[in-house]
Amino acid sequence: MKIISLLVPCYNEEQSLPFLYEEIVKVINELPEYEWELLFVNDGSKDGTLDCLIGLRNKDKRVNYLDLSRNFGKENAMLAGFDYAKGDAVIIMDADLQHPPMVIPQMLKKWEEGYDDVYARRKTRGSESWIRKKLTNYYYKILQNSSRMDVLPNVGDFRLLDRKCINALRQMRESGRYTKGMYCYIGFKKVGVEFETQNRISGTSSMSYRKLANLALEGVTSFTTAPLRWATFIGIIVSLFAFAYMVFVILKAALYGDPVRGYPTLLTVILFLGGVQLFTIGIIGEYLAKVFVEVKNRPVYFVRDYNGEKQ
Ligand code: UDP
Ligand code: MG
Repeated sequence: MKIISLLVPCYNEEQSLPFLYEEIVKVINELPEYEWELLFVNDGSKDGTLDCLIGLRNKDKRVNYLDLSRNFGKENAMLAGFDYAKGDAVIIMDADLQHPPMVIPQMLKKWEEGYDDVYARRKTRGSESWIRKKLTNYYYKILQNSSRMDVLPNVGDFRLLDRKCINALRQMRESGRYTKGMYCYIGFKKVGVEFETQNRISGTSSMSYRKLANLALEGVTSFTTAPLRWATFIGIIVSLFAFAYMVFVILKAALYGDPVRGYPTLLTVILFLGGVQLFTIGIIGEYLAKVFVEVKNRPVYFVRDYNGEKQ
C-alpha cells in the first residue's frame, strides 16, 4: 500500500490543531486505499501545541510528531519534515486550515496520473489587505523578471511532492531557505490544482510585514544574482553620463573660461553618486552575508523529540 505523509509545520497552533485534525481525518477516512502518516512538526511553539500533538499521538497512531529544539522558522521546519516523512508522497499543509484538506483527493488523482509535484493555486487570497495583495503581485513580477525560472504567483507551500522531489529537496541544505524557489529549481513534472483560500481559523498570521519583507529579500537573493548584474549596469550607465559630463565641463572651461559656479550641480551629483554607491554596496553586502552564513554550514534545525523518543 502506498504511504502518504501529510506534513504540517506548527507554530503556536494549539487552537487550530483539533479542527485541522478533524478535517483531515474526515478526508483521509474516505481514502482507505492509502496508508496515512500525519507528521506534525512543532517549530518551538510557546503555547500548548506540543501537548496537543502528544494527545493526538496517543489517540491515533497515524500521527507522528517532531519537536524542534527552538523556533527555526517554517522553511527549516519543512526540511525537518522532509527528513522524517515516510511517505511515497508528501503533502505539505498549513496548520491554520487556510489550506483546505478537501483538495487532497484531487492532488492524489494528479499524482496517480504521473505528476511529481502537484501544487495548489489560490483562486483568491482570503481576507488580506489590499496593499498586501498589491505588494505581493509586484514582488512576483520582479522575481519573475530577474531569473530564468518561473516562481508561480499565488502558489504557496500547499502541494503534493513525490518521493523523488522530497529526496531532491533533502539534498538542498542551505541555511537561507526559500523553498518556493527550490520547487522550481528541482524541476520534475508539475501540475496545478485550484482552491479557494480560507481565512485563518484562529489567531493571526505570524507573517508580519517585517517577516514578509525579509522573506522577500531572502527570495530574491537566494534565487537569483540578478541584482549584482543590475548594480554593474547602473555603474556603467552612471559612468557614461559622468564621462560625457566631464568632456562637456572641460570643453566649456577651455572655450569660455571657468568662473567658479555650479555648487548646486556639484552637490547633487555627489549626493546622487553617494546614494548609488551605498545602494550597490548594500546589494554586494547582502550576498556577502549569505556567503558568510552558508560557509558555516550549520545544521538548519535540531530535533528534541520524535514521538517521545529523545533524539
Ligand atoms: N509556521 C512555522 N514556524 C514559524 C511560523 C509559521 O512552522 O516560525 C507555520 C504555521 O504554524 C503555519 C504555517 O507555518 O502552519 C503558515 O504560517 P502562517 O499562517 O502564520 O503564515 P501565512 O499563512 O500568513 O503565510
Ligand atoms: Mg496562514
